[in-house]
Amino acid sequence: MRLTLEIDPRSGFCPGVIRAVEQAENYLKFNRRLCSLGAIVHNTAELERLQGKGLEIVSLDEMAQLRHDVVLIRAHGEPPETYALARANDLQVIDCTCPVVLKLQQRVHETWLRLRPTGGQVVIFGRKGHAEVNGLVGQTDGEAIVVGDVEEARALDFSRPVALFSQTTRDPGDFQRLAEFIRSQCPGAEVYDTICRQVVQRHKSLVAFAREHDVILFVSGRESSNGKVLYELCRSVNPRTYRLETADQTDLAWFRDGDKVGICGATSTPQWQLEEIFIYLQAATQND
Ligand code: SF4
Repeated sequence: MRLTLEIDPRSGFCPGVIRAVEQAENYLKFNRRLCSLGAIVHNTAELERLQGKGLEIVSLDEMAQLRHDVVLIRAHGEPPETYALARANDLQVIDCTCPVVLKLQQRVHETWLRLRPTGGQVVIFGRKGHAEVNGLVGQTDGEAIVVGDVEEARALDFSRPVALFSQTTRDPGDFQRLAEFIRSQCPGAEVYDTICRQVVQRHKSLVAFAREHDVILFVSGRESSNGKVLYELCRSVNPRTYRLETADQTDLAWFRDGDKVGICGATSTPQWQLEEIFIYLQAATQND
């Protein structure tokens, strides 16, 4: 079977994840162990690669047991309590919070302080329990309300002022629908589209990429929030889209002779993984 294979030139890690992985690797060049609070990237293969170099993933409970150690805070960021715990336990922090997330945390905090005297509500469009969302809610002393869709937003108290923000990796179309609903209920609502521009650009380019190919192999970890959104986006324009994490999950029954196959991924998918799948498919199909 002959296939034409192409890796999406715009896929691969986003700048925030590149920065976090580089900082971890730099530290591990000279040290045998580094604790990361939560998975530094939602990708099993990349995590295993970094664990092989000495990265250890710790939970918040496990971090509470550490003393005089070094802890990496990943690109998603953390609420202020995590920094307080690090100080209390004499932990050195390698802070890899993405600058985009950091700026968003500051905006959420300032807006919350400003709206507080008026009884206003800070609303975050995001996934409850997601690390970035926890970090944002932490800027408001736990008062921000997290909504995942329009249905959940119906429970908001629209007699009070509303300021809407978004988790950086949400779907831009879903955010617009939510913003319209909130404005229809509360015309004075403040709406801040805080979806990361990297994510917005990737949405646009992925739609074009998915349309240009007969089959799309979307590579991402199951835990990746951004991966779930982008996979659904590809599938919405190309029904022959398949999600996989490693090359051996490829099923040759997905392809027909002569297909143009596009290989792409989430902001947490490393470039080497896309290349691995490219090489695997090349070997598995073009030598028949
Ligand atoms: S998606 Fe954007 S905000 Fe999130 S880590 Fe990457 S660059 Fe930063």
